[in-house]
Amino acid sequence: MQEEQSLTFEHLTPEEYKVMREGATEPPYSNDFVEVKDGVFHCKACGNPLFKAEDKFDSGTGWPSFIQPITPDAVQYKTDWKMFVPRIEVLCGKCQSHLGHVFDDGPKPTGKRFCMNGVALKVQKDT
Ligand SMILES: [Zn+2]
Repeated sequence: MQEEQSLTFEHLTPEEYKVMREGATEPPYSNDFVEVKDGVFHCKACGNPLFKAEDKFDSGTGWPSFIQPITPDAVQYKTDWKMFVPRIEVLCGKCQSHLGHVFDDGPKPTGKRFCMNGVALKVQKDT
């Protein structure tokens, strides 16, 4: 079996492209990342490490949710005016792919809820 090594944008599926390049949101429960308990979540486009599984929590939304990124500069932020109320868009800190949004209704200690599209992530188990 061939390993997925360095995924570039040309390798994205139409669904991945829609989310990561056009800022779409995948339907909830469209992946099994909600069940993942360990490992590191990476950007599917460039492989940048983004979130640790231990920072993931069950938000009940059907999207993988985290209390914080793996490092402060792993992600970038942008105000998204697509909806009536502005939301804070979360982008990959390396390749600027759209990942999801961050909200202020998360659990302690950060109070943040990083609501991510699973299609933009790939998980690698700690070795
Ligand atoms: Zn990236």
